Amino acid sequence: MASGTSDVGLIGLAVMGQNLVLNMNDHGFKVAVFNRTVSKVDDFLNGEAKNTNIVGAHSLQEFCALLKKPRIIILLVKAGEAVDQFISMLLPYLSPGDLIVDGGNSHFLDTRRRTKEVEAKGLLFIGTGVSGGEEGARHGPSIMPGGSSEAWKLVKPIFQAISAKANGEPCCEWVGEDGAGHYVKMVHNGIEYGDMELICEAYNLLHRGLKLSNEEIADVFTQWNSGVLNSYLIEITANILKFKDTDGSDLVEKILDTAEQKGTGKWTAMSSLDLNVPVTLIAEAVFSRILSSMKEERLIASKTFGSYSSNVTIHDKNAFIQDVHDALYASKIVSYAQGYMLLREAASHYGWNLNYGGIALMWRGGCIIRSVFLGQIRDAFLQSPKLSNLLLNDFFKAALLKGERGWRNVVAQAAYMGIPCPAFSSSLAFFDGYRSERLPANLLQAQRDYFGAHTYERVDQPRGKYFHTDWTGSG
Ligand code: NAP
Repeated sequence: MASGTSDVGLIGLAVMGQNLVLNMNDHGFKVAVFNRTVSKVDDFLNGEAKNTNIVGAHSLQEFCALLKKPRIIILLVKAGEAVDQFISMLLPYLSPGDLIVDGGNSHFLDTRRRTKEVEAKGLLFIGTGVSGGEEGARHGPSIMPGGSSEAWKLVKPIFQAISAKANGEPCCEWVGEDGAGHYVKMVHNGIEYGDMELICEAYNLLHRGLKLSNEEIADVFTQWNSGVLNSYLIEITANILKFKDTDGSDLVEKILDTAEQKGTGKWTAMSSLDLNVPVTLIAEAVFSRILSSMKEERLIASKTFGSYSSNVTIHDKNAFIQDVHDALYASKIVSYAQGYMLLREAASHYGWNLNYGGIALMWRGGCIIRSVFLGQIRDAFLQSPKLSNLLLNDFFKAALLKGERGWRNVVAQAAYMGIPCPAFSSSLAFFDGYRSERLPANLLQAQRDYFGAHTYERVDQPRGKYFHTDWTGSG
């Protein structure tokens, strides 16, 4: 097939695809577009893309003919079957060395499989995370590509031009082989679930515990946003809390309290179980969403039990607000430490050579979890690239110790007040477990040996030597 003149092609003209195309066009790349529902190509060309260099096609054959060789084709379609269908429909029109990029939220195991399948046909494949929603896609997303290493040089100039920049550096770097990019994006989304849950727990404690108005809580968040918690999610939370409905009341109060999810947080929690990594905070964040969605059952239970009536009164409101701040910051440190523990284990399990500081830089700008905090994580890995756990870095260690008293007070007061804060409390439990020289697993091993002869190791014998006891004296 003859070579065309477009630098890159994109299939999937929904919200992400359209914005990414306009972003590439702004940066001087000539883009060709296609969509399953072909009428959307003309709608786009006559609408948002009018007076640009963007060109459209009405068939895949025409689309492939518009592209320079080697062809670069980005898929931004619904994750799942649609990706496989487009790959097999494209194959007849591609030549060796052409590249297919899947920019949707695909599962990393699908990306591993697709990389192998596409490479076997003499083509290249990239599975890339794209974060930052509609706004990010339009003006600078965080981009996390992985797949066929050879393909990186083909997309690097495009991706690094259109990505967000943090202190002038692009929030896009090569992540690693096959599913590495989508894995890192999945963990990013899991961390996003955790960050959102932590902010919601802080809001609940200030609202229900301290009886602050939404306006007052918005002011607290605005103030927090100028310190160590500075982040996109804290900033938008302050805006949401101040937002008025058409009748002048707070819109947030009218929103039904049932959270929805698309699955990437659940995938992160499932992967952590598969790889034996205690990513407790993200798992709690997923379970909290699930519990919130059980609205009818919660209504029955709230009538059955009533709300817990405590006689706790917090006298020094400002001191408690500071404690909630410290609990949020300390829990966030634990959450990121757990996320990085998972990345480290996944890298070892799947054979990826992940650059942990580089990942923090990719998340530093453009994406939903962007924050000042990620700059500190990057610094921690720059100081010691082999850092085994973020909690052991001097900066984060000092921050945890500084916030520890307030963190414990918040978890204790929340329990006294009957206000759920599963992410604050599970992260504190993780911290206490992680720092414990001795845990009650000695008893647990004894129980296993008692009922199942599973054996145990002894503290007074070398590791790897196993013992069994006849606990009932009957054997
Ligand atoms: P989407 O709603 O996930 O997908 C819509 C696009 O997929 C349309 O082009 C649609 O074509 C196509 N499509 C759906 N089912 C198809 C099928 N069975 N066969 C072929 N094409 C099919 O769109 P989106 O929100 O822009 O997201 C695109 C991808 O980016 C998704 O994987 C999403 O998870 C990921 N993502 C989204 C966001 C976000 O903020 N929205 C952020 C990051 C990543 P038709 O027009 O013909 O229906």
